[in-house]
Amino acid sequence: MPELPEVETVRRGLQPVMEGARIIRVEQRRAALRFAFPADFAARLEGRLVTSLGRRAKYLIADLDDGMVLTSHLGMSGSFRIEAAGEGGLAPGVFHHARSKDGKHDHVVFHVDGPAGQARVIYNDPRRFGYMDLIDRAALDDHPWFRNLGVEPTGNSLDASELAGRLTGKAAPLKAALLDQRIIAGLGNIYVCEAMWRAGLAPDKPAGRLVSPTGRPRKDLEELTGAIRTVIDEAIAAGGSSLRDHIRTDGTMGYFQHGFSVYDREGKACPRPGCGDTVRRMVQSGRSTFYCPRCQKN
Ligand code: ZN
Repeated sequence: MPELPEVETVRRGLQPVMEGARIIRVEQRRAALRFAFPADFAARLEGRLVTSLGRRAKYLIADLDDGMVLTSHLGMSGSFRIEAAGEGGLAPGVFHHARSKDGKHDHVVFHVDGPAGQARVIYNDPRRFGYMDLIDRAALDDHPWFRNLGVEPTGNSLDASELAGRLTGKAAPLKAALLDQRIIAGLGNIYVCEAMWRAGLAPDKPAGRLVSPTGRPRKDLEELTGAIRTVIDEAIAAGGSSLRDHIRTDGTMGYFQHGFSVYDREGKACPRPGCGDTVRRMVQSGRSTFYCPRCQKN
């Protein structure tokens, strides 16, 4: 499943081709992915200018010049790829983030003409858990997909005081609180495990214990906030971890997964110098948590 850094990588790959581009034509080859496409999806997009391409949690958000927003979620196996539109068009291979190039899974083709030239932006999704919609920009924050989303884990949006307010009084294990999309939006299992290890915090520590009785972030929470921002920033810089589903431009798998300290490393040595313990796995809320019992304190 693409995690937030992969989605941000997709956004950065599509941005030069989509932003400022006119959507000339849309081939919509199915009535539905995970959900039905909105009525007249292709017709409503054709002729529109993409004014910006943003992201919220794991949603790509393309603002259009008529006040609507094209939103898309990659689900389990969705990917975009860019192909040149022929002679004089964009050079192929500028950006390629495809899991599958099998044409039978190409569900939507956007023909665009923009600052980077003419191109086809192709949405491919073998398992069809992805989805798209057209939403009024003015109503976006109240839309069911967006209205309960917590703070972004990237850049300056995440700070310890903000998180303290969201964790105060919570008896839930830290792992569960960090995966709660209403607290932090788009932070997935891999990066939660990595951030807790970096901050030296046990996955089952009650989340509220990171906050002082007066509601101030304790030092633990300051360190955790920094660790979350660092693991996400590093993953984005590395082009997103590829794991099983994503293949980089040159066909090789992404490399950030080799940099994981604990995720998927059960039984291997904890990489913290001088620790000497091994990475353990436990199941919390049905999902694997990888951690070092020596480095991560309750
Ligand atoms: Zn350790």
